[in-house]
Amino acid sequence: MDAEAKVVRRHVAWRQYDWFRRIKPHLELIAALVSGLLIAAGWIMDRQGFVTAAVVSYLLAFVIGGYAKAKEGIESTIKDRKLNVEILMILAAIGSALIGYWSEGAILIFIFALSGALETYTMNRSSREISALLELQPETAVRIRDGGEEETVSVRQLRVGDILLIRPGERIPVDGTILEGSTSLDESALTGESMPVSKKMSDEVYAGTVNLRGTITIVMNKPASETLFQKIIDLVQSAQSEKSPSQLFIERFENIYVKIVLFCVGLMMVLPPFALGWSWEETWYRAMVLLVVASPCALVASIMPASLSAISNGARNGILVKGGVHLENLGKIRAVAFDKTGTLTKGKPVVTDVIAREGLSEQDLLYHAAALERFSNHPLASAIVERSGLDSGELPKVADMEDIAGYGIRGTVNGILWTIGKAEFVGREEAEQFAGSIGPKLADQGRTVVYMRDDQGIAGVIALRDVIRDETVNAIRSLKRAGIHTMMITGDSETTAAAIASESGIDAYTAGCLPERKVEAIKELKHRYRTVAMVGDGINDAPALAAASVGIAMGEGTDVAMQTADVILVKNDLEKLAYAVKLSRRMTRIVKQNIFFSISMIILLIITNFMHVLDLPLGVIGHEGSTLLVILNGLRLLR
Ligand SMILES: [Mg+2]
Repeated sequence: MDAEAKVVRRHVAWRQYDWFRRIKPHLELIAALVSGLLIAAGWIMDRQGFVTAAVVSYLLAFVIGGYAKAKEGIESTIKDRKLNVEILMILAAIGSALIGYWSEGAILIFIFALSGALETYTMNRSSREISALLELQPETAVRIRDGGEEETVSVRQLRVGDILLIRPGERIPVDGTILEGSTSLDESALTGESMPVSKKMSDEVYAGTVNLRGTITIVMNKPASETLFQKIIDLVQSAQSEKSPSQLFIERFENIYVKIVLFCVGLMMVLPPFALGWSWEETWYRAMVLLVVASPCALVASIMPASLSAISNGARNGILVKGGVHLENLGKIRAVAFDKTGTLTKGKPVVTDVIAREGLSEQDLLYHAAALERFSNHPLASAIVERSGLDSGELPKVADMEDIAGYGIRGTVNGILWTIGKAEFVGREEAEQFAGSIGPKLADQGRTVVYMRDDQGIAGVIALRDVIRDETVNAIRSLKRAGIHTMMITGDSETTAAAIASESGIDAYTAGCLPERKVEAIKELKHRYRTVAMVGDGINDAPALAAASVGIAMGEGTDVAMQTADVILVKNDLEKLAYAVKLSRRMTRIVKQNIFFSISMIILLIITNFMHVLDLPLGVIGHEGSTLLVILNGLRLLR
């Protein structure tokens, strides 16, 4: 075979695999729908008098619709040594087929398979979460050998003490210390702060952060498995594997329920001829009816359609919920923890003060600042350009521009040299003198101050600060009104945290939190309030989002936060949080009605069966009828 044919064959094989992979997540649903079609076909053939063909069609519906659930039921029974609803449903369907009621059995299977397929959809989503985190970790690094030549190696091959080269735009592959060069880094992956951090010789750098401006060489000081970033991944993984108490309760209840039903059916198959004088035929028939009506179809349908309706209601309102369980938990929350930057605040600095030297106007200052900053993608630069209100056509040309990473920018405008940046960059002494004279206005340490200088000395200062979102105050207020404790956990300093806390009206706050500390804070809250939500936007929030009973991510947050979270506020609208809580409480009410109704119905059917009033077709009608009513009641949540 020539090379070209090989390539073509490989291509075809890949295409087939791709096709299968795309359809695989939907297999369960397809199977359920096919079994539904087979039931319809069987019913028509039965009416036309083709009894054998109808039975074959029902039999196929059994196998195709029931395969996934039967496999799941048998596997988990063997693994956990516990019985489950799947086993019960399969037995009920087989039992009714054995006494000649094929279509009834097949319908049971169909409805159960359909609800199972929907469950699988939501479960598959959560397992994709970690993979997004792993993508942020670079797989290769540029190592500098003793001789000075560069080589690209896999991160796994790196050893502590290796010297690595990192160019602008690249992610730092491992934790280390800078040997040479200076730059600014985007550390938002770890701290959640969007403001770049300047780094110089002998500063620490962390894996997963992005090098923005300069080329640096670092010496690796920690094995790849112990980096701060790897710790975040581990924390997310371990938090996800902790099961919720209500989940555990449902699993225990299911086991007990199935055992009781099987025990009763067992008794029902043997005892009545002796105790009540029933014939054996009557006894077995009644036992099968019992098995059908006791199957918790309506009970299963009590929750699923209601939560799906509530989920789509939420989606229309900008609240994306990744499963009924999370929506259910939302109604139970008694405390909400918020990240600060990007969650309570806009996460982008805004110019708060412009103070010019006497003889200069504010607009003069902004005009020159914007001219220098317009080519920079630093968040401070964009905020200054935005505040100036000028577009690039209105701004003067800058000659001899120099952008010094982590310090500032220098350039000549209309023959005068202007400098903008940190105090050290424009001359610390003069800058401090100038700032001192306007002291009180800049006292708030939450602000970042940028100095400007022209040929006559310090020309002025521009102060910037991250400001709270327009909706924050209202959102906190309506949560408090719903009896929910609010708290802020932030990686930022005490002073900034205190300022934002009082501005937003939040109940409490903790400052200076690394990702691990955020998880601890959530655990403490859980201890006091049981059901706790966490709202965040950064990768550093991911472990806390996973640890909370409900993780809520901001729609403009990082992919990792959105994938780890259970709920996403699509339009970053914090006010929707209170709406989501209300929606959840309404859903809980409807689910309770449904559960009460379906259990009453099961009891009623069991009693009438025992009294010989009920026959199997009527049993299936009662059973499915109650299922239908319960579903319709759930659909009310769409409104
Ligand atoms: Mg943040």
